[in-house]
Amino acid sequence: MSRRTFAIAAAWSALVALAACDPAPETAQPEAPLRNVLLVTVDTLRADYIHAYGFPLENTPQIDALAARGVLFENALAAASATAPSHATIMTSRYPREHSIGAVNGGSRLEGGETLAERFRASGYDTAAFVGNFVLRPRIGLDRGFALYDAELPTRELNRERFFERDAEATTLRAIDWLRNPRPDGAPFFLWVQYQDPHGPYTPPSSYLESFPEVAGARARPLAPLDGNSGVGGIPRYQKLEGVDRVSEYLDRYAAEIAYADHWIGRLLEAAEQEGAERGTVILLTADHGESLGENGFYFQHGHATTPELARSPFVLVAPGLAPARRREAVHHVDVTPTLLELAGLPVPVDASGLSLAPFVVSSQPIPERVLFCDIGRETSAYAGDTFLRIRGSPKLWGDWAAGRSDAPGGPPESLLVVDAYRRQSPEDGWTEVEPEARLLEAAKAYLMKAVPIVQVAEPTEEDKARLRALGYLPPEPEDPRPQAGRPGG
Ligand SMILES: [Zn+2]
Repeated sequence: MSRRTFAIAAAWSALVALAACDPAPETAQPEAPLRNVLLVTVDTLRADYIHAYGFPLENTPQIDALAARGVLFENALAAASATAPSHATIMTSRYPREHSIGAVNGGSRLEGGETLAERFRASGYDTAAFVGNFVLRPRIGLDRGFALYDAELPTRELNRERFFERDAEATTLRAIDWLRNPRPDGAPFFLWVQYQDPHGPYTPPSSYLESFPEVAGARARPLAPLDGNSGVGGIPRYQKLEGVDRVSEYLDRYAAEIAYADHWIGRLLEAAEQEGAERGTVILLTADHGESLGENGFYFQHGHATTPELARSPFVLVAPGLAPARRREAVHHVDVTPTLLELAGLPVPVDASGLSLAPFVVSSQPIPERVLFCDIGRETSAYAGDTFLRIRGSPKLWGDWAAGRSDAPGGPPESLLVVDAYRRQSPEDGWTEVEPEARLLEAAKAYLMKAVPIVQVAEPTEEDKARLRALGYLPPEPEDPRPQAGRPGG
């Protein structure tokens, strides 16, 4: 341990000891100044398409620079492979089966409990969110606790006329404007910025495309378009670009979208640290989920599985005084809320399903191995170390039984679960099928028994409809898109 790290660890121990002697209510302000907090979530960003995570091209200089001065977690997992369930977990430290959004991507609403933004706001923070994804409109309840929730989406998606989005430049400029306004009474800020760009269709500015010359070989083969928005062996309808049909062209466009988002993330980081210099700023960058780029025959889509290419996310943490490091231990979206609160100087919620990573990043203390879940409702994977269990069949029935919505005698039969298990020997190896471990299966079954009732989104009022029309959206219901749980809807 370096002298500097040791000093931080000692300071941390003193802070913890102080808190233990004088238990304070959750909203009490500790003596140390509260830090600003910036949470960046990038939609559909695979960790292995970031240079700092091993991508061969230097397409992410800004994220790489952030990682070089912070803690990069090599094995971070998403709560789901769809936008709404994952973001609800990030904001609550509750798994999809523990929050009222469940595994539904856009048709359900977050109610109950206290969100990360509500916790910051109750502690005197100025709070704002800028999102670029149609699914994250205020109706799903993630706006709770934000004094400003900016979900104005000016651009119609290329192939889905009822979906709207906002690109990285527009989102960043709005967020920077907000940062440059003085905070009321010099309050600290909590800012969440969500970037939509790596989400399909892959349409980066042409100047970014030119940076990524095509590769030859197997990746150059053409793919046929699919009839629908998901499925194996072809290009999903929402991704299809006219005159573009080779795998390599889509992969290069995906990398270019990431490069474009990276540029604007750099601008945002610079502004946040300038405006937040006095208090110091805690920064966390992650993704809501990955993307299938050919794994198991699925191309350019997400939401259909919980396997590693979809569950694995980048996770980069920067805070004043933290020494740069790369960590191998697994972390998860459930860790975001407790970690950001504690690094900001606030208490960790007692009802968190995740861990605060703060004590582990200020020291070399190992993060304990846990069983962590990625869940899309009809499929759940349980990850532990270099192993995961993939459960298909009817995992939903288990929650129904636990919640009294099924009267199957003796509980849901195990024969309804289709269980596969995989292990890898090293980070470089692929996954090999193995026998399921009993301890993982038991942990997964206990998780499947959890079932908070899903809350459907409210029907839009006449006022809501008028506002949507004014913004250019088509009239809701029955035309309003209700993406199925886990389908690529955002
Ligand atoms: Zn997403």
